[in-house]
Amino acid sequence: MTTNQHWMQRDLDSLWHPCTQMKDHEWLPVIPIRHGKGLWLEDFEGQRYLDAVSSWWVNIFGHANETINARLKAQLDSLEHVILSGFTHAPVIELSERLGRIAPAGLGHCFYADNGSSATEVAMKMSFHYWQNKGQPDKQTFVSLQNGYHGETLGALSVSHVGLYRDTYKPLLLEVEAIPSPDCYGLPEDQWEAHSRAMFEHMEAKLARNHDNIAAVIIEPLVQCAGGMRMYHPIYLRLLREACDRYNVHVIFDEIAVGFGRTGTLFACEQADVSPDYLCLSKALTGGYLPLSVVMTTDDIYKAFYDDYATMKAFLHSHSYTGNPLACAAALATLDIFERDDVIERNKALSAHMRLRSRELLDHPHVGDVRQHGMIVAIEMVRDKETLEPFPFEERRGLKVYQHALSRGALLRPLGNVIYWMPPYIIEKHDIDFLAEVTREGLEIATA
Ligand SMILES: *Cc1c(COP(=O)(O)O)cnc(C)c1O
Repeated sequence: MTTNQHWMQRDLDSLWHPCTQMKDHEWLPVIPIRHGKGLWLEDFEGQRYLDAVSSWWVNIFGHANETINARLKAQLDSLEHVILSGFTHAPVIELSERLGRIAPAGLGHCFYADNGSSATEVAMKMSFHYWQNKGQPDKQTFVSLQNGYHGETLGALSVSHVGLYRDTYKPLLLEVEAIPSPDCYGLPEDQWEAHSRAMFEHMEAKLARNHDNIAAVIIEPLVQCAGGMRMYHPIYLRLLREACDRYNVHVIFDEIAVGFGRTGTLFACEQADVSPDYLCLSKALTGGYLPLSVVMTTDDIYKAFYDDYATMKAFLHSHSYTGNPLACAAALATLDIFERDDVIERNKALSAHMRLRSRELLDHPHVGDVRQHGMIVAIEMVRDKETLEPFPFEERRGLKVYQHALSRGALLRPLGNVIYWMPPYIIEKHDIDFLAEVTREGLEIATA
């Protein structure tokens, strides 16, 4: 067996990693993983890491899950891929039927792509095109929230407002107004509703002023994940749905990160009891196995494109791997597990334990906020606990937590100064206790 060092060197000689300043790897090792099973990743020297970030928020039922593996192996022997224009296959049909049954009401049409950013692009193009088809060609712009994130291709980046990813490319982007976020950072939970409600005034004002030119509003329901796991109250989704109905504007819910049980309900928008016009799903859709995304939409929208070919109303968007059968099979196995194991119910005890163990960290002199929606917990480090003054980003304190966690056998990868737990749902209470311990030690080291 060759060592970590061997693979690291070959890696650095040939790869360029995502979301990485490659120069960091002069002193920060890239970790080659040989094996994954359940919660645990194992490197080439036998060191194990608890995957507390679900391998970038995708893996919900563990690595090498037996149910998903079995389904994938069977699919591999019958059909690996086929063009989805003019042709179809059983896994994609079954998946569409099942998604239609479990999704919020009214979303009976599934349009597939192969990653989250592409789903955002599809929803944006569909909304824009819908208004063209409906004879309202002035409705061309999009509205999104400050600190929101919807992916990194140019259209998706245009509606994202996290400076780190966006600012450099601004001249290339569509002009999109960012509305102040309903983010409840630093507030006790009993004030979230009032705050999120008050922040809606900004959205209401924007819609009142510009609705004739707005195609759609796009937001991440309940948690702005890439923006540092900032959270808000479901009332905002209800107010948004009502206002968009009044002003004749589409609503796009980007549940790419929060869908499939992350916030405690199967879909986050269930907590507001509202449906969007477009629901974007990806990440956990395949249990973290294969890239796949879907935009689910309504009869009304579907019908606006349904006409004789020569009217040029069709939605001609496509990706080569659209609706890939292997990815659909992994998604079907994932839905099987949700049904078989009563996952949403079981997660309640886990999230209660995550609450218990994370609240304890609030007493730390450099923890400004501990927040939670279901299976996502965020712990925000600050320089000043009273004013919530942040640590300067250059100090890279989150990285110190990351390094400490690795040395203790956990993959905790903070977003700036925000440490978060977003584990696979197969985690157990004693694993959560371990994460709490590692987090407290990491906090001590990073804020010393
Ligand atoms: C990750 C993410 C995306 C982008 O998905 P990719 O598959 O990485 O392109 C879009 N929206 C949200 C909310 C996400 O968290």
